[in-house]
Amino acid sequence: MQNFDSVREKIHSGNSIIESGGLRLAVDDRLSEISAIRHGFSTRVGGVSPVPFDSLNMSLTRDDNKANVFRNYRIFCDAFGLDHGSLVLVNHEHGANVVRVDRSFCGRGLTSEPLPFCDGMVTDDPAVTLVTLHADCSCVYLYDPEHGAIGLAHAGWKGTLKRVAQRLAEKLTAEYGSNPRRIIGAIGPRICFDCFEVGEEIGEEFAREFDFDGIAKPRKCGKAYADIEAALLIQLLDAGLLPGNLSTMGLCTFERSDLFFSYRRDRTQTGAMIGFLKLNN
Ligand SMILES: [Zn+2]
Repeated sequence: MQNFDSVREKIHSGNSIIESGGLRLAVDDRLSEISAIRHGFSTRVGGVSPVPFDSLNMSLTRDDNKANVFRNYRIFCDAFGLDHGSLVLVNHEHGANVVRVDRSFCGRGLTSEPLPFCDGMVTDDPAVTLVTLHADCSCVYLYDPEHGAIGLAHAGWKGTLKRVAQRLAEKLTAEYGSNPRRIIGAIGPRICFDCFEVGEEIGEEFAREFDFDGIAKPRKCGKAYADIEAALLIQLLDAGLLPGNLSTMGLCTFERSDLFFSYRRDRTQTGAMIGFLKLNN
């Protein structure tokens, strides 16, 4: 069995933190070089929500006052020059459903009714900004430069086991004819291998599903660690993407309490960040 470390060596890792209007935005260094797209991952800095949602909470489903969250979206869009009216929010259920959206979907999940349940979205419409929500779960960014199409997904451990990242890549191919070998992919901030403890049986499921040594490791007392990021990268490789076209931001939501909310660390009473991806006009 191949060890994942030998694959990881071929995958670029690097991030930058951009500051604007008192906010901070995490970006992937590789994706930042691509002028045809804009992407990012919000941090908790610079919003109006009180403790424990302090302060840039982007989730409308937590106990935070919704008016605060709506205000936070305005603040975020103003700081980073996004059209507030272009946002389409994922409606995640920790599954692997991926939907195609266009400008007729703008506002869904924020100012109009939520999308049907989905953990991923694809579009080739530059009028759309895809938005996913996260508080430890990974964000998967895909871009097909050949067909001008993008995909964005939310991936917790359940969706990862259901291969949501692979489904996202396959959806780009099904909808736009994308060649997987041309697709560029990145993984955003997430809870890292060393911080993500799961039940032993979940560790075993990861080891079964993803045929690489080192994807899960046992821990004491019936617990295990699971490498969600590695599992996402493996399924992107299984979808036909090339290691040289993949990158990761390498930021851990659990460790970086200065930047991120973490559902695990904060024991569920916490806010959420967004990942976003759009095609430039
Ligand atoms: Zn960590």
